[in-house]
Amino acid sequence: MDPEAFRSAAHAVVDVMADYLDTLESRAVFPAIEPGSLRPLFPASPPEAPEPIETILADYGRLVEPNATHWQHPGFLAYFATTASGPGILGEMLIATLGQNPMLWRTSPIGTELEQVVVDWLRQALGLPPAFDGLLTDTASTSTLIALAAAREACGGDVAARGLAGRDDLGGGLTVYASAEAHSSVEKACMTLGLGRASLVRIPVNERFEMLPDALASAIAADLAAGRRPIGVVATVGTTSSTSVDPVAAIADVAERHGLWLHVDAAYAGVVAMLPDRRASFAGWERADSIVVNPHKWLFTPLDASLLLTRRMEVLRAAFSLVPEYLRTLDRAAPVRDYNEYTPQLGRRFRALKLWIQLRWFGLDGLRRRIEAHLALAADLAASVAADPDWQLLAPVPFSTVCLRWRPAAVAARADEPAVAERLDVANAAIMDGVNRGGEVFLSHTRLDGRFAIRVAVGNLRTEARHVDRAWELLRAAAATQSIP
Ligand code: PLP
Repeated sequence: MDPEAFRSAAHAVVDVMADYLDTLESRAVFPAIEPGSLRPLFPASPPEAPEPIETILADYGRLVEPNATHWQHPGFLAYFATTASGPGILGEMLIATLGQNPMLWRTSPIGTELEQVVVDWLRQALGLPPAFDGLLTDTASTSTLIALAAAREACGGDVAARGLAGRDDLGGGLTVYASAEAHSSVEKACMTLGLGRASLVRIPVNERFEMLPDALASAIAADLAAGRRPIGVVATVGTTSSTSVDPVAAIADVAERHGLWLHVDAAYAGVVAMLPDRRASFAGWERADSIVVNPHKWLFTPLDASLLLTRRMEVLRAAFSLVPEYLRTLDRAAPVRDYNEYTPQLGRRFRALKLWIQLRWFGLDGLRRRIEAHLALAADLAASVAADPDWQLLAPVPFSTVCLRWRPAAVAARADEPAVAERLDVANAAIMDGVNRGGEVFLSHTRLDGRFAIRVAVGNLRTEARHVDRAWELLRAAAATQSIP
């Protein structure tokens, strides 16, 4: 594709992109398709002969766009939103064009140093002290994996070099602590790091789904007494199900007492720390060894972008540095940052570019205003739910996610009887499914205290009050078709 052909195809693609963003609301957030219905639309074997870009783009319009789950739709209120903002998309285009690989300073001086700039801008925006350095990864799962690898390294057993197998000197097993509500990525990290799922001790939560620090202290004491070796604690600010907030300061006290690595998972809610008057939820996180915040969740950055901050970069390096001759550069004489030494993978994307473009285009003020608006939308919905006798909030709403269920006033007194509880679960699943099938909005669910909870998660840049109001209207209309005998 010579530059002129590229120019004309790229202009056509930009038109496709702009048309897509312009027509989002005319689409069903989740299209009416069934699993397995798409693969047969594509040839079973790859094309032998080249095809013109016009044909390929026509097929994109026919086969790809209509069969996507439309995460960019303003009615996307499921999971946690991932918005591709306009400036973020432009950033992705330039990233792809420059094709940088900031694995070494020399393989991308600008990729390396702009990452340092952007990481520090974000640190400042979050109100964290300069002792935090860090890097960008693809996802919070990877960031947490890296953090727990560092925790494993910091326990002193030189695990990077010697591994874990047959290590009697490490006692009866390394242990990690996280609340019963912590994200599955913590458990996956334990699996991946050879600690095993059994190494993760799930600490009970209170009725607000927040970790109990006393229970954490008791669990650590019991493990120490049994000869196990605690290495790290994960506190979550904004859990996945209910967005609950673990008491980070009290957890930091326990972690410090035992010399454990403290990792704070603020993948979703971390950006709220950009609002100085909302920082109470984060009290104590400045004492963490590492923190993850995902710009690709609530900072309107297209997938992927996860920020891993740490006060202990040198431990990440000890966990992952391996420099074969072909990666050795003369720059090592000077103190350069070769980012590959801090993570499991070698090749890296130039994610800093889209963040730099976005941070400038919105400005911190623009980002704060949008996050504030989402917090207000969720607060309004929570107030409506609380005021309706047939509906129930299933968790506090510290951020922009509301967990609710239909529980008609007539059965309130019997709601905990197993048969009624079961019928309520079935009815709420049907309500959510009915709403999703309508295509105007898209919701997801969880279980809280064993009960089916519908989640309305506001976080999409394009969501306005009318979309959240409509979701509430549709939920009530779907509930009107249900009855609990
Ligand atoms: N941590 C929390 C609290 C989350 O809610 C999620 C995903 O929703 C993750 C981690 C994992 O995020 P990612 O998809 O970036 O790995």
